[in-house]
Amino acid sequence: MPTARFDLPDIDAFTRPYWDAAADGRLLIRRCGACGAAHHYPREFCPRCWSEDVAWEEASGRAALYTWSVVHLNDLAPHRDRVPYVAAVVDLDEGPRMMTEIVDCAGSDLRVGMPLRVLFRAEAGAPAVPVFRPTD
Ligand SMILES: [Zn+2]
Repeated sequence: MPTARFDLPDIDAFTRPYWDAAADGRLLIRRCGACGAAHHYPREFCPRCWSEDVAWEEASGRAALYTWSVVHLNDLAPHRDRVPYVAAVVDLDEGPRMMTEIVDCAGSDLRVGMPLRVLFRAEAGAPAVPVFRPTD
């Protein structure tokens, strides 16, 4: 049976800088020049004030755990080879809330608000993807 992948992004001219930075180990967010708010996922306008004066900015990579779910069953590649894994929502230090995955931490050790740092999962045939692990 072919291994279809439904988790890979369609990279276009707008999102190319984000994925290029990820391949280089840097997490980019977008910041509005009109109201100062940062946002993520990347949009071509500010979701707070609708200004189109938004630009890429390198994030610190620091975040706090907001919520999570330990996934034990997922039939889709590549997730079926990763179970159990931790699907999570984290609050970046810059403000935006981001969906991601927590790695290198047992589900029972996770705590709301625990400090996290970004790292990038690189695998053949797929762009580098930001995931987070607890800081020491
Ligand atoms: Zn704005």
